[in-house]
Amino acid sequence: MYDWFNSHNKWAAITIGAATVAVSKLIFATIKYARSRKSNEEVLTILIFNELSGSCGANHLKKAPFKCQNKYCTRSHIQRIVYQIDQAQYCIDIAIYTFTIIELLEAFKRALSRGVTIRVISDHEMICSSGSKVLSLNRLGVEVRMPETTAMMHHKFMVIDERARVDDLRLKDRKSKPRAYQSVVVYGSANWTLQGFNGNCENCVITSDKQMTKKFQTEFDRMWKSFECSSRNVKACIK
Ligand SMILES: [Zn+2]
Repeated sequence: MYDWFNSHNKWAAITIGAATVAVSKLIFATIKYARSRKSNEEVLTILIFNELSGSCGANHLKKAPFKCQNKYCTRSHIQRIVYQIDQAQYCIDIAIYTFTIIELLEAFKRALSRGVTIRVISDHEMICSSGSKVLSLNRLGVEVRMPETTAMMHHKFMVIDERARVDDLRLKDRKSKPRAYQSVVVYGSANWTLQGFNGNCENCVITSDKQMTKKFQTEFDRMWKSFECSSRNVKACIK
């Protein structure tokens, strides 16, 4: 070996140099990936909606900036949900009975423009109701599925960047650089409508709890597969 290095000094130096660079790159990529998997601070927010939620409505018409002190405020609560959508890096899976809130639609549009993959499961009767933003998302290219039974799809949840789902998407797109993300689930009693957020007594929980995000993602994936054939009927419904 010693003799070989002596007689091939130049090539030995090149080989060692190349190997060092390759190992350094590998270590750097591993650290970067590990960091990207790291969760930020844990999230746990419980939004309560009740008869007081709209009581500050007139104040919101005053000059900005306005920080609402109403802890049940509809506007503030919607912004908390919008904030989570705006943090999405890879994917958003939505299971919602009905959805008409324009601010949420706008946030989903921003997510789509960032390259976030969105999937929607909704109720077969509500999906084509007037004002449904599910159809608006479908027109933007978002695949929508629904159970084709008389039973209701009554869920109200959204999973953002769930870990296993992110890993699946990364496997399909190895060229894109890893991005830091946090898995979050938004769920509760409220439909994403003005009635649900501005008058009804409802709740909405936002949490990064791993078991919760995984559980909701697992059920979403099960439904997605089970309702696979419904996509064409959603398209027929739009026409
Ligand atoms: Zn308010």
